[in-house]
Amino acid sequence: MQIKNDEPAPAQDTGTVLLGIDGVRVTEAEREADGRLAVRAEVTVPAACPGCGTPSGKVHEVVVTRPRDVWVSGQVIDLFLVKRRLECPGRDCPRGTFTEWVPQVPPRCTITRRLLDQAGNEIAGRGITPAGAARHAGISWPAAHAAFAAKADEVLDEEPALVAHLGIDEHRRGRPRWRKDTDSGEYVQLAGRWHVCFYDLDGGQGMPGQVEGRTADDTAYWLAGATQDWRDAIEAVAIDMCTIFLSAVKRMLPHARIAVDLFHVVQLAVKTVGDVRRRAIREKYGRRGKAGDPGYGIKHLLERNAENLSPDDFAKIIGTLDASAEGQQAALAWIAREKLRDVLKLRARVAGSVPCERQVRGRLFSFCDWCAQHEDVPELVTLANTIARRENEIVTAVVTGVTNATSESLNRLAKLEARMAYGFRNPANQRRRVRIACTRGTRRKTAASTKRPASTTRKVTRQKHRPG
Ligand SMILES: [Zn+2]
Repeated sequence: MQIKNDEPAPAQDTGTVLLGIDGVRVTEAEREADGRLAVRAEVTVPAACPGCGTPSGKVHEVVVTRPRDVWVSGQVIDLFLVKRRLECPGRDCPRGTFTEWVPQVPPRCTITRRLLDQAGNEIAGRGITPAGAARHAGISWPAAHAAFAAKADEVLDEEPALVAHLGIDEHRRGRPRWRKDTDSGEYVQLAGRWHVCFYDLDGGQGMPGQVEGRTADDTAYWLAGATQDWRDAIEAVAIDMCTIFLSAVKRMLPHARIAVDLFHVVQLAVKTVGDVRRRAIREKYGRRGKAGDPGYGIKHLLERNAENLSPDDFAKIIGTLDASAEGQQAALAWIAREKLRDVLKLRARVAGSVPCERQVRGRLFSFCDWCAQHEDVPELVTLANTIARRENEIVTAVVTGVTNATSESLNRLAKLEARMAYGFRNPANQRRRVRIACTRGTRRKTAASTKRPASTTRKVTRQKHRPG
């Protein structure tokens, strides 16, 4: 490198610039036998007594500390930080002596703030576990976790924006934990098995909240903690076919439209076809199906959507089911499933235009009518009853197109966090980790958008309301 003679002399020496801690000057650096880099540095900022604020230059003693620091140029450094212990000149000050310090290494701290920052960012931003981040940084798990918690709470304590479409789903968080009460001798639950999760389905907030337990009261309790404005802003709620969430939503959000997730509706119909087919085989042979039985051979074909079957497969199904009275029962269930799928095909994303409620109810009627005509198949009656009970919610789902897809995908993230942590003992830590994981994508997008020039950045005004 050529250095021109007219360049001004650097304010700091090269080693100090490379270390990059404000108020610390590198005095010596050498390579140790094991390849690590030993760096000796001293504090250069003048210190004042923290008790009375009087500056002092009277040295009591010189101490060498060993704070842990980030890797520099891809290698671990052993930092020896020389600090002076000064005597306070104030006569009335109760504090006799104090040591010099810099913001990166506050008094009594043995880890630099930038190392904690790095560990916290890795856990919050990159999804590394606290154990992994702690191992990499050479610090303890509690230190890494506290750094993460400080970062995460900064984000999670922000008041959530209004949510138009809310998703609710349950998530099995892990094994329950109990403690024996010493006085009564009874077992008290410390951590439950379930979490109910609340999702922002289209606003990009991920998971605005979680609550332990999975009863209607638990769900209603969380919703009750939200402000009235926040609850009023919810237009539609997507749930699976479970009655717990239904009753909680009806109680706490009486104005909101409820949509059941259509995946679960189809899943129920597919299961019904399988149930009828298995019963038919059992009635015919007096045993369960096995390879070689005609009805058994088409079991996977029956699970496929009719429009995805080749003409040969279609003919195989018809030929097999038509051959026996038992097979014909399975055919009735198969047709019922397709009739139910015809209802779902009215969705705007499939049909290309928003259906009217009457169309949807018409096709639902056609499905129920088919089941009623074949009430000798008991499984069809059960299916029709279940669907009829959820008629309004199915109609809402088809007309509005609100689905629980976001909930299910974030639920997968929640499960992944639990697996990476090998399970959580502390449900509060689990909730924090899961919620920060669910907003990771959104935070990345927000961070990217803030880097755009001001003229092209869209101004977004968010009304904030805080539930719970
Ligand atoms: Zn003092």
